[in-house]
Amino acid sequence: MNSEENFVIAIHGGAQNKDRNTFTPEMEEAYKKGIEEALLTGWEVLNDDGPALDAVEAAVRVLEDNPLFNAGRGSAINCEKDTEQDAAIMDGKTLKAGSVAAIRFVKNPVSLARKVMETTEHVMLTGPGAEEFARRSGLELRPSEYFITQEKLEEFKNTLNHEKHTAGKGTVGAVALDKKGDLAAATSTGGLTNKLKGRVGDSPIIGAGTYANNEACAVSCTGDGEFIIRGVFAHLVYALIKFKNMSLHEALREVFRINGEGLKTEMGIIAVDRKADAELFYNTLPMYRGYRRNQEPAFLAIWEDEFRIE
Ligand code: ASP
Repeated sequence: MNSEENFVIAIHGGAQNKDRNTFTPEMEEAYKKGIEEALLTGWEVLNDDGPALDAVEAAVRVLEDNPLFNAGRGSAINCEKDTEQDAAIMDGKTLKAGSVAAIRFVKNPVSLARKVMETTEHVMLTGPGAEEFARRSGLELRPSEYFITQEKLEEFKNTLNHEKHTAGKGTVGAVALDKKGDLAAATSTGGLTNKLKGRVGDSPIIGAGTYANNEACAVSCTGDGEFIIRGVFAHLVYALIKFKNMSLHEALREVFRINGEGLKTEMGIIAVDRKADAELFYNTLPMYRGYRRNQEPAFLAIWEDEFRIE
């Protein structure tokens, strides 16, 4: 039990290898603001005694609405110059999970994932079936153009000049522990730039990009989904804690060591546990990230620099 009523939320807005000199100070400020807004939105839910599930959904919705991040509005452009979104949410208390993949018209995919979890007998809905379910459930819909931004179109054009045909463009995620001691995780993404229509990444695959279990931790990943799926990295963090008695920090370190010896993908993983520890690991240049525990100041960072807000 969480007798001390500790609570914590951690979020990420994607990890990718971008050079710092491609960022203007204004861009850094805008990303920082976006992360800060999402983090504090989730933190308020927890501070007001709300459940971890509400906190991660609220934080991810803020990032989905922000066109800077690759989720919801501002999703990566696929090979048909369109966007498709994936999202998942998991409740660490009940081990219920919901996810959606390759959907096109839902303003907040994470909320559709939650509807799948709470109102159906299923875990995952995809494509037109998921969109039809969103319509029936009364979720906010938007036309394709809403999701497409000029910046992501430029990134798409640049990707076409590269030898590697797709590019990781980030993902957003949140993990939280509430005052009752319950954990939850949520992840949402537009996937890879220039991906094939219908391609599904790790984010909506429970155990790959998203996992929560009150026995150990809540986890959200970002990076090349094809690798994260094969590494089953979110569940691996859980398994190392549960079966190897590792701390959260040791488990994350071990996952990155295993990745370094095997799949060698670029990725970021955020995780929290029932002791209100938060770990934010990445092997890329930046990872937009932040966490806030209890009444402590928030930690926010993009690069190796770290800054705090009151
Ligand atoms: N993990 C996401 C995907 O493969 C992309 C990313 O995080 O960069 O869909």
